[in-house]
Amino acid sequence: MSALAAELAALIREEGPIPVSRYMALCLGHPRHGYYMKQDPFGAGGDFVTAPEISQVFGELLGLWAATLWRMMGEPAALRLVELGPGRGTLMQDMLRAAKVLPGFRAALSVHLVETSPVLRERQRATLAASSVAARWHDELETVLDGPAIVIANEFLDALPLDQFVRTREGWRERLVGLDAEGALVFGLAAEPDRDIGLVAPEGTVLEQPAAALAVVTQIGRHLAAQGGAGLFLDYGSSRSGFGDTLQAMRRHGFADPLAEPGDADLTVHVDFERMAGAALAAGAAVSGPATQRDLLLALGLEQRVAALAQRATPEQRRALAAGAERLVATGPTAMGELFKVLALADPRLPALPGFDLHRLPEQRRAF
Ligand code: SAH
Repeated sequence: MSALAAELAALIREEGPIPVSRYMALCLGHPRHGYYMKQDPFGAGGDFVTAPEISQVFGELLGLWAATLWRMMGEPAALRLVELGPGRGTLMQDMLRAAKVLPGFRAALSVHLVETSPVLRERQRATLAASSVAARWHDELETVLDGPAIVIANEFLDALPLDQFVRTREGWRERLVGLDAEGALVFGLAAEPDRDIGLVAPEGTVLEQPAAALAVVTQIGRHLAAQGGAGLFLDYGSSRSGFGDTLQAMRRHGFADPLAEPGDADLTVHVDFERMAGAALAAGAAVSGPATQRDLLLALGLEQRVAALAQRATPEQRRALAAGAERLVATGPTAMGELFKVLALADPRLPALPGFDLHRLPEQRRAF
């Protein structure tokens, strides 16, 4: 049994079964045994690979997007470039390198990273050491939002804890993590139904409540509407709200049982982009998308960027460049280009955002 499994069992014996959100928060963020707190999980030797680790072009295109935004904002003298959950720091490194094409933008920038993991903070510090732009780290959003900002979050919302409810004959009952007779972790249901959920659905239907992710999007939307700027949320998930259990565990590039290895497997959920868009609109931000990752990267010039890099590359590098770019925009329901969506939030005074010309949220959906 892992150290965290033993601690969870003790907690549940003392306090009773815990909500899925508490389970997720402890698995990922427990100060000593949490998945992100104790290790760097990325890369071929780790548990999963993210877009910035697949191709430098990903971060470069987002860096050029940010530079264009700075221009559209009227070239403010000071702008915070904020990243939420920066992983190894690769995305920020690639963005800053690409931003060199606009020296005024680089000069206006200060870099702010929101990261809870000490291990990953160290990794980010090492990655960004050569970037010659000073970076500051924050534990949470509260301190990072101050003045005009460009906010980037890749695979961040999927790591935020959510709650689940299951439709039963008596109504919606919360899904909880408890212990079976042998002391192993099991899913169960709250004894009493939740009286606040008015939705009707067939028995057995699972409803997810991503309160933490909605709070992040609301806070950023409100800030951008008041103080200027824009934000990009990239993640896997759906453009339309729906029912279903999306909690999943990943270990060594394969799916695992979410209860089997607490703290040793990554735990994520799919992002409900329709609800995120609704929260951002309600907070006063303009919303673009969700677009697929494929559509956005192609609109931002992925092919042109790859062709430019290929000119100074060896044949082997050229093959790797093409393969990486292809993986980012690959089509099919489980391929990155389609499964991953991008939602943009912006100050409503800004014109249409680069890459989203075809993806402005239709007016009629503002009532959501
Ligand atoms: N954006 C990176 C990493 C994605 S993994 C990439 O694309 O490679 C999720 C990241 O979010 C990790 O850096 C993790 O430590 C961080 N994280 C998870 N929960 C967090 C929280 N509540 N607050 C701040 N950072 C968090």
